[in-house]
Amino acid sequence: MSNKQLDELRDQLDKVNLSLLEQINERARLVKEIGELKREQGIARFDPVRERSMLDLIATNNQGPFETATLQHLFKQIFKASLELQEEDNSKALLVSRKKQPENTTVALKNEVIGDGQQRFVFGPCSVESYEQVLTVAKAMKKRGQHILRGGAFKPRTSPYDFQGLGLEGLKILKRVGDELNMSVISEIVTPADIEVALEYVDVIQIGARNMQNFELLKEAGSVNKPVLLKRGLSATIEEFIHAAEYVVSKGNDQLILCERGIRTYEKATRNTLDISAVPILKQETHLPVMVDVTHSTGRRDLLLPTAKAALAIGADAVMAEVHPDPAVALSDSAQQMNIEEFHAFLDALEESGLYKQPVKHS
Ligand code: PEP
Ligand code: MN
Repeated sequence: MSNKQLDELRDQLDKVNLSLLEQINERARLVKEIGELKREQGIARFDPVRERSMLDLIATNNQGPFETATLQHLFKQIFKASLELQEEDNSKALLVSRKKQPENTTVALKNEVIGDGQQRFVFGPCSVESYEQVLTVAKAMKKRGQHILRGGAFKPRTSPYDFQGLGLEGLKILKRVGDELNMSVISEIVTPADIEVALEYVDVIQIGARNMQNFELLKEAGSVNKPVLLKRGLSATIEEFIHAAEYVVSKGNDQLILCERGIRTYEKATRNTLDISAVPILKQETHLPVMVDVTHSTGRRDLLLPTAKAALAIGADAVMAEVHPDPAVALSDSAQQMNIEEFHAFLDALEESGLYKQPVKHS
């Protein structure tokens, strides 16, 4: 075959490609029109019977040289892409997505806002153990202009024999300290039935990693008028995390904060692996504020500072770290909580690094 012949055939091929291109796009336009009609009539987009009959039509009319199975495979790809086109059209974008709401959501607490561009901290003990214990931490926090206090009352422990938390008594202690020192308090709720109870005591309802896909709990938290802090599940993908958030927001509660708290990987040097890139991904994909929990993600006191720096540098809206007056005797997470001295050193170091500026002191 001469080069001239080859060029001619290639020219023809280019023409066929362009004609196919036109045909495929013409097909896409028809599909979009059909999608519109289906939407108006409330008909499901995917119709397997219709797809089967289109494939049969191709089979009956195929004169080769392609095998029918090959052609059907190719057409299936076109059908699939068309279906996606219809879905895009009907734009079922998630409520939590940036597509749906380009502006950042801000979550208003008693005397703080999360997601307004200023980076905040959440400190407090892993578990509420006593009034004095919480008060000691809270007072240290106030000295540093920190007003968001955490403390677990219902503790979802790995072992049923470990300390399970003080329950309602713990919420009462937290509220008392919060009221006395004018702080916002966060505590985890583990049962849908307790959401109602929590409204009276906490400023933010925390849904823990182990409950990220407790859909009844998510729905209940979505039905109340109280900010929610949703932690990423132990082995949850970002997509699953975002859908869990959607459960809350779809029930009407848009006061939601997401929290990256490390995920389970094969790495054993840390308790979990802090997925730091989840922060910008979540901020790109959703309009919700994003927090990083450096305590549970690392499980190591020596890593709290460097990971907090990373969280601030990457644009987290808030950082959570646990503080206990005497971590050695803490009833949970004894290995990674900071004592009061370490808490001050932690904030000093962050201020020195230039990544964080102490807020103006509130009363
Ligand atoms: C907690 O914050 O107290 C807690 C138990 O964290 P997580 O749900 O992320 O394990
Ligand atoms: Mn803890």
